[in-house]
Amino acid sequence: MNGSRKLPNILVTGTPGTGKSTLAEEIANSANLKYINIGIVAKENDLFCGYDEELDSKILDEDGVIDVLESEMCNGGNVVDYHSSEFFPERWFDIVFVLRTDNTVLYTRLEKRGYSAKKIQNNVQCEIFQTILDESKAAYKDEIVHEIPSNTPEDMQNNLDQIMSWLQQWAANT
Ligand code: ADP
Repeated sequence: MNGSRKLPNILVTGTPGTGKSTLAEEIANSANLKYINIGIVAKENDLFCGYDEELDSKILDEDGVIDVLESEMCNGGNVVDYHSSEFFPERWFDIVFVLRTDNTVLYTRLEKRGYSAKKIQNNVQCEIFQTILDESKAAYKDEIVHEIPSNTPEDMQNNLDQIMSWLQQWAANT
């Protein structure tokens, strides 16, 4: 926990399609925090540095994103949504949630999104190999990284309830 912030910063991460945006927006609305979608920040500030043909996606200018968000993150009170976690400064986050979704459920969600077969396969494989979870555990202290299920609306409600309890506890401890 960072003692200098009045409100915490939360990172919601996971493979694309696991439900990051849905949950992060719910948290922000319920707790009156600011929702920050890194993809949108990058688009608005033109923070890309090329295209990854293999992954079929733009390459993020990570240093640029950090520069743009640094002061806001120092103030606290943000819910950040991104499918990677390791390039952010560790000090930015008080807690990290890694969403996990069963392969078949994820496959269907990504298919509905109109992703190519290759892009679906890449993302489902990323989820099978728990890439984002391992990456988050390597980048942040174990005790602040929480793996949470994101298969059903009930999962989402449970996750939201638990996160709201955590926020209340955080407020009580500061
Ligand atoms: P991400 O931001 O990780 O790419 P989204 O939040 O856009 O994922 O969610 C992908 C799709 O899955 C959306 O259609 C969303 O409504 C649905 N979804 C997200 N979380 C859940 C959940 N817990 N249960 C059922 N559907 C969900």
